[in-house]
Amino acid sequence: MYDSRNIFARILRGEIPCDKVYEDDFVLAFRDIAPKAPVHILVIPKAPYIDLADFSAHASGAEIEGFFRAVAKIAAEQNLTPQGFRSIANTGVHGGQEVPHFHLHLLGGAPIGPMVSEA
Ligand code: AMP
Repeated sequence: MYDSRNIFARILRGEIPCDKVYEDDFVLAFRDIAPKAPVHILVIPKAPYIDLADFSAHASGAEIEGFFRAVAKIAAEQNLTPQGFRSIANTGVHGGQEVPHFHLHLLGGAPIGPMVSEA
């Protein structure tokens, strides 16, 4: 069950500010408040999906296309595309997801190391 009190829902409602980098009918993208790379952007759908599994299973084709077309635009606009970047969708408890509104992290601007830390 989607919890509309989560912080990204509040950002979408305009109740708290964000450092916006992109917006269209389907997505909002803004800078992470605690960046883990020189460029660290969060891309979120405007509709209420909990996580990647929920979005993938239940979003319409238009929403899914809109989301990923926006990712491509944002990556290009932020100059991430030429040198590459990492995209992460933490999902659920084992995935370490903190905010229960689907979001894709885009990390780049410099080499950002191994995919996961050593166990
Ligand atoms: P996750 O662990 O994948 O759920 O990531 C949640 C991310 O949201 C973290 O990287 C936080 O730093 C980030 N975050 C939390 N609150 C805000 C906020 N108000 N504005 C921007 N980023 C935020």
